[in-house]
Amino acid sequence: MGKGAKRPSRARMRGQLLDEAARATLPSAVDVCVCGGGAAGLVAAISAAEAGASTAVLERDFSCGRSILATGGGRCNLTRLDLDARAYNDPAFIDAVCGPLFSTDVLGFFDACGLATSFESEGDTRIYPLSDRASSVREVLLGRARRAGVILACAREVGGIGGDSVLFRELFSDGEHSLRAKAIVLAGRDGFVPAGLDAVPFSPLLCPVACEGLPFDELDGRRVHARVTLLRDGKTVLDEYGEVLFRSYGLSGIVIFNLSRFARRGDTVELDLAPGLDDSSFAKLVSSAGNAAGIVDPVIVDVLGDEKHVSCTVSGLAQTEHAQVRRGGLVTGQFDPATLMVRDRPGLFAAGEVIDIDGPCGGYNLSWAWRSGQIAGTAAAAYAKAGA
Ligand SMILES: Cc1cc2nc3c(=O)[nH]c(=O)nc-3n(C[C@H](O)[C@H](O)[C@H](O)COP(=O)(O)OP(=O)(O)OC[C@H]3O[C@@H](n4cnc5c(N)ncnc54)[C@H](O)[C@@H]3O)c2cc1C
Repeated sequence: MGKGAKRPSRARMRGQLLDEAARATLPSAVDVCVCGGGAAGLVAAISAAEAGASTAVLERDFSCGRSILATGGGRCNLTRLDLDARAYNDPAFIDAVCGPLFSTDVLGFFDACGLATSFESEGDTRIYPLSDRASSVREVLLGRARRAGVILACAREVGGIGGDSVLFRELFSDGEHSLRAKAIVLAGRDGFVPAGLDAVPFSPLLCPVACEGLPFDELDGRRVHARVTLLRDGKTVLDEYGEVLFRSYGLSGIVIFNLSRFARRGDTVELDLAPGLDDSSFAKLVSSAGNAAGIVDPVIVDVLGDEKHVSCTVSGLAQTEHAQVRRGGLVTGQFDPATLMVRDRPGLFAAGEVIDIDGPCGGYNLSWAWRSGQIAGTAAAAYAKAGA
């Protein structure tokens, strides 16, 4: 955009995107129809098209891949070098689907897209685009999809499957339509799940945790590097180190997001506010200084006193509307792990969060989206071509 040029308003941009979406023409039939053009759906479509299948994506939003833009605080933590199946809610399924080359396969895919990547910092295994922009990830995916001949049909909301057709509504005309497909890949995350499949109800995860038992109002906005232990009936459920953000309703921060995958109402959260010091060194420093303000944020010391260990009780999850992932979705046991096809619905595949898989923060969830998209897309193309 030239100097002095006015940025188009949001409404105008939406209007332009809607016009663009309306111009995308769909044939009456394709080999592979991908329902949902987010992280998993774009990779599934690229994989299917590159395997020789005519492929269309039906996406509810005005453009594809917009879900990627908000990831990693706008920087997109797209994967990590040390992906470990045990970090997910269903390690055996992740092992069976993704195998030992999980990270290598994901990185190989993005290398072939022309994306330069780098580690978060030296010694860190989390991987980001070198540009530090999530939009780079989206752009390389959209570019590769277009080069492979994928039809990106946006502003089309999938509402059902009837026989060998996907039923959808055009958001620009409100018209109901159908698209015949030899294979269908479900990649709509919280979107459409066909009747007759086993699914666990969706519930939000990776979000702040509401707590009671500390003066949270007075602590709102303060940050501390702490050791965080989640306890249930005296037993440790999770023990992690990281930055904790006090909020008026409880606790937030990446380490707390991870804790939200396990926390239940009534659990205890213990915080060690000076994890780098043992108890006696902490006591010595407090006695030399007269208080703990030389060790812990003085505002926190003002509110909580000279305490190294504090605890509170979980009362629920908070700000769930902004949760990063959802638990629930299609039950893993009904899929063939080699293809991600529903065993008793030949031709129906799925990828990404629409399957009941979730992992902690740090690149685990997108890695699953990318890799499951690759597997389902490639297998859907093979299925469509075998039946041709
Ligand atoms: C704020 C935020 C930050 C995150 N940061 C990270 C991170 O840094 N690293 C990481 O690993 N994970 C991160 N995640 C999680 C990650 O974004 C998801 O796990 C991942 O996007 C899931 O991929 P998906 O394709 O299954 O779903 P999505 O990427 O959400 O794509 C689903 C697509 O389907 C479309 N859709 C839904 N219903 C329909 C329908 N009925 N018809 C047509 N289209 C439909 C949606 O519009 C969407 O485009 C983050 C999540 C959030 C919310």
